[in-house]
Amino acid sequence: MKIVRSYAAGNWHAADGDKGVELRDPTTEEVLARVSAEGLDMAEVVQHARVQGGSALRELSHEARGELLIGMSKAIHAIRDELLELSMKSCGTTRKDSKFDIDGASGTLYHYGALGKELGSGAFLEDGDGEQLGRSSVFWGRHARVPRNGVAVHINAFNFPAWGFAEKAAAAILAGMPVITKPASSTCLVTERCIEAIVDSGVLPDGVLSLICGSVGDLFNHLNGQDVVAFTGSADTGLRIRSHENLLSQSVPVNIEADSLNAAFLGDDVEPGSETWNLMVREVAREVTQKSGQKCTAVRRIFVPDSRRDAFVESFLEEVSSRVTGSPDDETVNMGPLATADQLSSVLDGVNKLKEVADVIHGNGERCDGVGAEAGKGYFFAPTILEARDEGGADVIHDLEVFGPVSTICRYDGSAASAACLNSRGAGTLVTSVYSDSDDWVHDFLRRGGSYSGRFYLGSEKMAPQAPGSGLALPSSLHGGPGRAGGGAELGGLRALDLYSQRIALQGSKRTVETFVRP
Ligand code: NAP
Repeated sequence: MKIVRSYAAGNWHAADGDKGVELRDPTTEEVLARVSAEGLDMAEVVQHARVQGGSALRELSHEARGELLIGMSKAIHAIRDELLELSMKSCGTTRKDSKFDIDGASGTLYHYGALGKELGSGAFLEDGDGEQLGRSSVFWGRHARVPRNGVAVHINAFNFPAWGFAEKAAAAILAGMPVITKPASSTCLVTERCIEAIVDSGVLPDGVLSLICGSVGDLFNHLNGQDVVAFTGSADTGLRIRSHENLLSQSVPVNIEADSLNAAFLGDDVEPGSETWNLMVREVAREVTQKSGQKCTAVRRIFVPDSRRDAFVESFLEEVSSRVTGSPDDETVNMGPLATADQLSSVLDGVNKLKEVADVIHGNGERCDGVGAEAGKGYFFAPTILEARDEGGADVIHDLEVFGPVSTICRYDGSAASAACLNSRGAGTLVTSVYSDSDDWVHDFLRRGGSYSGRFYLGSEKMAPQAPGSGLALPSSLHGGPGRAGGGAELGGLRALDLYSQRIALQGSKRTVETFVRP
């Protein structure tokens, strides 16, 4: 039996064979491996990363750190086909959905590598302009950002085992912090293989990257105020981590990316069959079913004006009907199973709760057999679309994240004011999409409710030729949202480095201050 290993203090570590959690192929339910971090000394893991990795990174310029990231990107890309196969088998994602994760990882590392090159030979980040503080420029001030002198602990969700690791690591390493990454156990085979490829490539100095597969144990007890924790996962786990006594008492910054009831709105100016209409139908269907709906950016709430309800339901259900649920190995399949038995049971439970306030208008909310898979095996669940009985939808539709190919259509009056109010009922989303060709409508909506989402995807006829869909977390745009979405901020180009660096104010002679930041 394969034991998934951890990589720490410069060595690979495998727990005893009978320890830990079983990992299963979601299509066949065959056991693929076991995972456990038992036997890892977390104090040593932290200390090695801090001392070896941190010192090595702080010696390097941004440009040199960028080279490390490009090396990491190449190491992952070099085994792309193997990773795609592994992702299909261990995560149940189709080849296309697997690319989203694997190519997203190498692409994001490369993007941050290129940003490092642009930053050049400096090791510190400028933060605004310098300014005269005294009677003359003899006494000068400016702000800068320096790498935190600790370790970045990254805890990731199961749905993006490659990209989730890479997007966090890219920002931390470019900022100058070593990384301890902990993937979700259920899909960590993919992360383990990514890290193995990076370690084998020899691109990183010792201690810059460590991997914990299995439980983090007492890791948080060994962190201090120079360290950082960045978490992605459910709101419940996020709350547990945020309230950890040592993290609170040491003021360890904790970034949380959690659940999100992402919404999509159809503006009342959009005519059935128009380009913007078709864009919304196509994109929202994708955002409900891609990765079997197991995306933090998936659309969970769809709002259409009363007057457009019949036409929208007809177009949308026709689009969703083209999804074939089954084995990722079957070429006719375009949606794989859910990742685990727990995921399946949580989705079944969630749909039952939604059924209390909404009618199922597509699918049946039950487990199904998968095309190309053995009958009775696999965590298959076909797309299920519901429609809210009440206009605007009952509270549970705005509160309950069903992490699968499930979404609820709600009618509303079509006004920007109502749309802003309905978006706010999600209590903070990662991304909200609006489809409208009326700038007035969009501006009114943003003015009223712009603070309730981290990102707004504005679908229109004008941008349709280049539209990537609202689910794509581009490295140059902020990823994170207020309130229930966790209140975190990742990506957004160089903004991502804020978490991993300390802002300092420098006050002194102009020469001393300026040459520190711009040597
Ligand atoms: P989860 O159960 O909360 O687990 C997330 C991670 O936390 C896993 O690595 C898990 O490890 C670890 N963990 C669990 N308990 C812990 C503890 N007490 N201390 C430290 N780490 C702990 O979430 P999930 O099921 O993997 O992911 C699904 C959720 O993630 C959804 O709610 C989704 O919305 C959210 N998500 C959000 C984003 C975003 O960017 N906002 C992105 C992706 C997913 P084990 O697996 O070993 O238990």
